[in-house]
Amino acid sequence: MPHLFSIFLHLLFFKLVAPVTFRHHRYDELVRMLYKVHNECPYITRVYSIGRSVKGRHLYVLEFSDYPGTHEPLEPEVKYVGNMHGNEVLGRELLLQLSEFLCEEFRNGNQRIVRLVEGTRIHIMPSMNPDGYEVAAAQGPDTFGYLVGRNNANGVDLNRNFPDLNTYIYYNEKNGGPNHHLPLPDNWKSQVEPETKAVIQWIRSFNFVLSANLHGGAVVANYPYDKSFEHRVRGFRHTANTPTPDDKLFQKLAKVYSYAHGWMHQGWNCGDYFPDGITNGASWYSLSKGMQDFNYLHTNCFEITLELSCDKFPRQEELQREWLGNREALIQFLEQVHQGIKGMVLDENYNNVANAVISVSGINHDVTSGDHGDYFRLLLPGTYTVTATAPGFDPETLIVTVGPGEPKLVNFQLKRSILQATPKRKAPNSGHRNKVLPKKVQPQAAGKKELKMKQSQRGPA
Ligand SMILES: [Zn+2]
Repeated sequence: MPHLFSIFLHLLFFKLVAPVTFRHHRYDELVRMLYKVHNECPYITRVYSIGRSVKGRHLYVLEFSDYPGTHEPLEPEVKYVGNMHGNEVLGRELLLQLSEFLCEEFRNGNQRIVRLVEGTRIHIMPSMNPDGYEVAAAQGPDTFGYLVGRNNANGVDLNRNFPDLNTYIYYNEKNGGPNHHLPLPDNWKSQVEPETKAVIQWIRSFNFVLSANLHGGAVVANYPYDKSFEHRVRGFRHTANTPTPDDKLFQKLAKVYSYAHGWMHQGWNCGDYFPDGITNGASWYSLSKGMQDFNYLHTNCFEITLELSCDKFPRQEELQREWLGNREALIQFLEQVHQGIKGMVLDENYNNVANAVISVSGINHDVTSGDHGDYFRLLLPGTYTVTATAPGFDPETLIVTVGPGEPKLVNFQLKRSILQATPKRKAPNSGHRNKVLPKKVQPQAAGKKELKMKQSQRGPA
């Protein structure tokens, strides 16, 4: 009953949207759809390409923001990636539906969507593997080629193609060493596929905070790590729960999706059972060089993997039911980027401090401030001791209580370290190194931003 009631509320809230076409979109149609949405909502969208596939198809992204193309300080960046496995096509269609939905509801003045778009920069990539998709789509549904089109045009599984940073983090967890932003191998570009390379460059150039990677073949929300601590034991893949230091947060993110989804949370799907519709990746099956572990270990981005359909290539008639089952979950997951703490890291002269390290005591995974000096740290409600550090500055520590609602604004103003500043006396104004950007933050601007955030308190679903 509570479930039916919540569906009723969702329908009431969203009204019934204008009819959209529920069908599969080949590459040319996908590109047309993205530009159609952009033409319908030109002021809040931008289409851009992050690179090309092996066969030269663009990897397109549709961005939603009140200032498309611009990072606004304190406004988090979030992304969805679909169709990484070319034959797992539901995510691709759901992301097209989502794009159309965000545009239409924004134009209709749906307050929830207006607040979301104004307070969040959303990047949607419907297909990370357009070449694989064309192979799978040429075969169509109802065939036995379960894996046809999964890989890219070089026959490589893109979700086994990212640099393996787990080996290093598991070593560091035992022996000490960096707990975040693990470096890429020197020759990484020659070791990965064009699609993977484009995605790595993409996620290094935006300060993404939250992400989901949409797959098919099961119905479950899968959170890191995907690779078990001992990946292979006596030649066999070793399955074992392998939590990150942010395990409770990741479980919550996964549960937000599964419970807002029409049936994922029920647990029994496609002949498998997952309590609450969620699973740690490695406790399901261990995989190495996946994208979600890479996001967590190399960037500030927290990514989960959503398995959305038993059929990897569902029949066209099922797309509408799937959209209705996923719509609320896709929106709620985006809203999850607004929790925990965020703020500016500044020096004594109000210069932004980029790449400052934000540590939360008790959680062995730090995040860093972006190029604009702003940082975002997703956290569950609670009281935390948070420290900001940057080379050449004294660390600053604050005690912070986080509630369940909007993220708490926690700014840091770092004082230049006397011990380290003294030998550099010769050039007092150029001692910022490349960690500090010259751009100044106007305190008034930050105040205005906060006011805007307060006005846009999110209402109930
Ligand atoms: Zn997949």
